[in-house]
Amino acid sequence: MSWVSSLSYYQWLNELAQDKFGPRHPLTILMSSVNWALIQEYQRNAEWDKAAAYLADEAKKLETAGAGLMLIGTNTMHKVADEVQAALDIPLLHIADATATRIKDKGLKSIGLLGTKYTMEQDFYKGHLEQQGIEVHVPVGEDMDRVNQVIFDELCCNIINDNSREEYIRITHDLFDRGAEGVILGCTEITMLIGQDHFDKPVFDTTMIHVEEAFKAALEE
Ligand code: GLU
Repeated sequence: MSWVSSLSYYQWLNELAQDKFGPRHPLTILMSSVNWALIQEYQRNAEWDKAAAYLADEAKKLETAGAGLMLIGTNTMHKVADEVQAALDIPLLHIADATATRIKDKGLKSIGLLGTKYTMEQDFYKGHLEQQGIEVHVPVGEDMDRVNQVIFDELCCNIINDNSREEYIRITHDLFDRGAEGVILGCTEITMLIGQDHFDKPVFDTTMIHVEEAFKAALEE
């Protein structure tokens, strides 16, 4: 969605392919760099049906162009993942499913979640994790607003700010104090601000997990 997020997907998929096959590798990526201003307008106005129709249409174009597997390169817009999948014949790899599998593989039952307000508050993402038996903790009050604001005003514009990093670290430690056994970086740009190096408990970077699982699936195909 933001170009910053798309850049990570594009780079990391190619790096995995290069590690496995060398520089002239066979992985083909078809990308629709969507009108993100429009998406944000739909988000703010809760016009999810319009967002779904727009993304389904873009996804269909990629399928027609030959894609064999679909990724929505953001956590938030998985809000309309079911509608996008319904428009396609090829599979869509859900970012929360891929993440939940990693969390369960580590035997964790309680997790912190950082992301946009939509992702932290609404059921489409948290519910996906809870259905799989994982308890989810999210920041509250001003901390939730701050996490959301840093995503849209800084990270999505490729601005990396040390004060924001310190705040994210503090907010994550609050989630640990409330019982979280690890934290999900549940927004595809957060990986630029914090990562495993900042914490003793496990960090689940949804961008990297989504990329790795997609690469695995592409190889199987
Ligand atoms: N990339 C972010 C996410 O993973 C949020 C920005 C957006 O795509 O709306 O949720």
